[in-house]
Amino acid sequence: MRRCSRTACGRAAVATLTYVYSDSTAVLGPLATYAEPHCYDLCAEHAERLTAPRGWEVVRLAPDLEPPGPTHDDLLALADAVREAARPRPAPPEQAAVGGGSEYGTTEIGRRGHLRVLRDDR
Ligand SMILES: [Zn+2]
Repeated sequence: MRRCSRTACGRAAVATLTYVYSDSTAVLGPLATYAEPHCYDLCAEHAERLTAPRGWEVVRLAPDLEPPGPTHDDLLALADAVREAARPRPAPPEQAAVGGGSEYGTTEIGRRGHLRVLRDDR
């Protein structure tokens, strides 16, 4: 069984904390499948109380959850609906904003593509 890596804490680990020194980012995610450098397993309590060093950013990835935000299909359907509503008048400015589709949380996570996010394959 994996155990919390904090000193004097013997509880079972439920999350893995990864320090990305080049980005000054600490990523708290689901328990890693295998240990990597700069990775620390944490129990639920220590994961909850986690605070980043000054100047560092903490990114929390909820275990077993997809990133929030509509799916690609949802965006396409929304874009279609906007186009339909706009007809036959000229396209409203909002249409361009809907088509952009880059303001959702998924983008922020995707930007950290060099990090390995481990999920159970189902
Ligand atoms: Zn602990």
